[in-house]
Amino acid sequence: VAKNNGKGHCAFYTPEQTERIVNRIGAEHALRHAIDNREFLLHYQPRVNAATGELTSMEALVRWAHPLRGMVSPGEFIPLAEETGLIVQIGEIVIDQACAQIAAWQNQQLQAVPVSVNVSPKQFAHADLKSVLMSSLARHGVAPELLELEITESCMLQDSQKVAQDIDAIKSCGIRVAVDDFGTGYSSLAQLQRLDLDVLKVDQAFTRELANGETGEAFFMTIVSMAHILGMHVVAEGVETTEQLQVLQALGCNEVQGYLISRPVPAGEATHFLVRRKLFRHLQYEEPAGTP
Ligand code: C2E
Ligand code: MG
Ligand code: MG
Ligand code: MG
Repeated sequence: VAKNNGKGHCAFYTPEQTERIVNRIGAEHALRHAIDNREFLLHYQPRVNAATGELTSMEALVRWAHPLRGMVSPGEFIPLAEETGLIVQIGEIVIDQACAQIAAWQNQQLQAVPVSVNVSPKQFAHADLKSVLMSSLARHGVAPELLELEITESCMLQDSQKVAQDIDAIKSCGIRVAVDDFGTGYSSLAQLQRLDLDVLKVDQAFTRELANGETGEAFFMTIVSMAHILGMHVVAEGVETTEQLQVLQALGCNEVQGYLISRPVPAGEATHFLVRRKLFRHLQYEEPAGTP
């Protein structure tokens, strides 16, 4: 909005402001075009059992395959999509593609693992989410138990009664619900206790702290105990080193995800995870060769 610089003076947009507005309009237009052309695709990042390295699930992460710019990461367009409400349509495409992929893996006779899909606040609050989920699952013949939603703490900021009802509605269909990036937002312990959540994904910032000695470990341990008391599985995000993995194993963290195991990869590559199943061997308690 053009600023009014005092009484009676009409101000114009500065060139910088104009450029920003034009860019934004351009970006929004491009995003709409991308939706019409279905320029989105999913990469998958495995989640594994922290103790055994067994594949437990796969996270779907959206990418915009832009005809000129190449692969655009979600950090560059999800915020605008959320602001403009276009996230609702992009979210539908994501849910549909994830279900299609689960069905494709089933058709290849591969033992299915659940796929998790990220949902942003506007999409979560949208009245149609449940029917979008159910119709996608039905269209592709996929069991709801094979789908998990990742919601961030910012999804839990609005009217807590409504959030609890929305979560219950989704869970009553058989779809699981995870909290993503836990520890970076503003959810209260009371809220966590009240909501019926299945999985707690601890933000990578806390995993990074594991390298920094005692405090980081004690902190993570507290999150793990809290989650377990509340009946949630704990996933550590952003695991990059074997040292971090070993600490997480010792702390009883249930699952890990991160570059140490794999970066997000295209669906074709992710198929190899389903074939291999065990993505790392035991690191801890490994008997040295030749021990009696
Ligand atoms: P997220 O859901 O927390 O996903 C984890 C992000 O961290 C991913 O970035 C992933 O590539 C990255 N990551 C995974 N392991 C490591 C690691 O070991 N080290 C580091 N440094 N990073 C790691 P990506 O794919 O760029 O996605 C960024 C965010 O965009 C996601 O964070 C999620 O909030 C959002 N997003 C992605 N796909 C969707 C979607 O379909 N819908 C919505 N609403 N949001 C999405
Ligand atoms: Mg996520
Ligand atoms: Mg996350
Ligand atoms: Mg994160």
